[in-house]
Amino acid sequence: MRQRIIAGNWKMNKTIPEAIELAKGVVEATKGTAAEVVVCPTFVCLAAVNEVVKGTHVALGAQDVHWEKSGAFTGKVSSDMLLSAGVKYVIIGHSEQRTYFHETNETVNKKVKAALAAGLLPIICVGETLAEREAGRTNAVVEDHVVGAYAGLSVADAMKTVIAYEPVWAIGTGKVATPDQAQDVHAFIRGGLLQRLYGADVAAALRVQYGGSMKADNAKELLAKADIDGGLIGGASLKASDFAGIVNA
Ligand code: PEP
Repeated sequence: MRQRIIAGNWKMNKTIPEAIELAKGVVEATKGTAAEVVVCPTFVCLAAVNEVVKGTHVALGAQDVHWEKSGAFTGKVSSDMLLSAGVKYVIIGHSEQRTYFHETNETVNKKVKAALAAGLLPIICVGETLAEREAGRTNAVVEDHVVGAYAGLSVADAMKTVIAYEPVWAIGTGKVATPDQAQDVHAFIRGGLLQRLYGADVAAALRVQYGGSMKADNAKELLAKADIDGGLIGGASLKASDFAGIVNA
């Protein structure tokens, strides 16, 4: 049985006081859930949010990481720094990183390896654009992202990862993939790619989240699908009651 994982990607939102208030709301509103709950504030809010969530059922995540341990990389944050702030999960390869900040399969792979070496658990984002879907290239793009992210990763390391399938055309647009569209890609990731790369046991154990305009009113149907093990939530993670609506679905 794969435990559901619902993670909130707060993106570039919330000041420190606002983040503290949101984190308190999430802890309160999701008490008693059987799902794993993760909140991913900005770097600057991590320490303050950690003070709220540590010792509770809510885990702390970061939105990115650099692959080097330290040095002259202005603006970047290393895995050890994240760990020292109480971080457990780190989102890697988000489509906004790929689109705006030159993220490639190679940098995703380096970040995944650095995060794992330090003891962080990567949430690896993959997914196609609208043009790629319309050109019938969804599976090819997802394969490219998955194979690239996992290059050189052992079974033991792969077991520590989570995949977030996020069709780019559904992120922040209000256009959600239908449960069948999402399930098709999730089944391809699990039954096609992970099984080929790591075998049936790993494929059956790894969690694959859906991300893209997931909300309380569409979460239940998506999460009812056999290969959808949770959600990576952007917009609807910014209000505790909205986010809790998804967790409780
Ligand atoms: C995301 O950016 O990871 C995301 C899924 O955003 P939204 O829920 O706003 O579509």
